[in-house]
Amino acid sequence: MLRSTLLAAARSTGARKLVESTPFTRPVVDRFIAGEDVDAAIRATGALVADGRTVTLDHLGEDTLDAEQADATVAAYGELLSRLDTAGYADRAEVSVKLSAVGRSLAEDGEKIALENARRICSAAEAVGTTVTLDMEDHTTTDSTLDVLRELRVDFPWVGAVLQAYLKRTEQDCRDLAHAGSRVRLCKGAYQEPASVAFQDKADVDLSYVRCLKVLMAGEGYPMVASHDPRMIAIAADLAGTRPLDGYEFQMLYGIRPEEQKRIAAAGNTMRVYLPYGDEWYGYFMRRLAERPANVAFFLRSLVTTG
Ligand SMILES: Cc1cc2nc3c(=O)[nH]c(=O)nc-3n(C[C@H](O)[C@H](O)[C@H](O)COP(=O)(O)OP(=O)(O)OC[C@H]3O[C@@H](n4cnc5c(N)ncnc54)[C@H](O)[C@@H]3O)c2cc1C
Repeated sequence: MLRSTLLAAARSTGARKLVESTPFTRPVVDRFIAGEDVDAAIRATGALVADGRTVTLDHLGEDTLDAEQADATVAAYGELLSRLDTAGYADRAEVSVKLSAVGRSLAEDGEKIALENARRICSAAEAVGTTVTLDMEDHTTTDSTLDVLRELRVDFPWVGAVLQAYLKRTEQDCRDLAHAGSRVRLCKGAYQEPASVAFQDKADVDLSYVRCLKVLMAGEGYPMVASHDPRMIAIAADLAGTRPLDGYEFQMLYGIRPEEQKRIAAAGNTMRVYLPYGDEWYGYFMRRLAERPANVAFFLRSLVTTG
């Protein structure tokens, strides 16, 4: 109930204005977001790579309805990639991109524009020797994201995809993508989805996650285990079996279970942190609140104590 209310609020402009204008929101936002500009993103990347973690950076923004804004997002990724290169982090930091931030939601030719914009980001990433992973948004966009992935992979075979275990289709998508050279980030899924397409019970989502992990770990691709759930992490390590440590990786979100992130990295695994930055933090932040009731309590407490 609380989860669906928060996820509905994540897409409401009224709620957005209210949350963004509350001065006390900021300390809670800062737990999940590296900062508003590229300098903050580079600083946070430096701190993470210093203790052995790797990074995927997300220039925040989604559901853009303005072609200029989509262009500005491509430019922001260009600047970010060049700054990562200059700082010497390009071998340990890649970028994550939401197609709706680079034009997919535009009324005319949205998918075509998003593909071209994603291509520009991939070229910039290739130029500095790093990779791009396409984030997955709500289920109405899954086919279109996988179509764009296929197109991009013709020129950039290293482009990665995200699959969401809460979708009933995902086990089959894992089979389709478990081929050599294919980078797949498996997460549980963060959007509000109907029962017609998505498992609703947490236990069913977890079982699906394990089935998907089995397919990816048994395949020839490169599984990216994106979860903070200790059980999923233990099962993934077990299923990895004789895979070399550089044959898969663990991933977590910035600000969530940082001590566990350090422990996994110290054990010799690749531990990649998803690092969002920028001023369009609202949708991302609300999805993080929805994932865990304790975050809402923390948020409300901060309003009371700071106020
Ligand atoms: C690298 C990465 C990329 C992602 N990309 C996408 C994407 O493209 N599309 C998409 O739909 N989703 C994405 N997600 C989000 C994902 O779908 C889940 O919503 C999120 O990771 C929580 O699921 P979980 O596997 O951690 O398990 P859960 O069962 O939700 O959580 C397990 C435990 O992790 C901790 N935890 C989880 N979430 C939080 C939180 N917000 N705050 C504090 N503690 C928390 C708690 O201790 C919790 O008990 C991504 C997640 C990661 C790690």
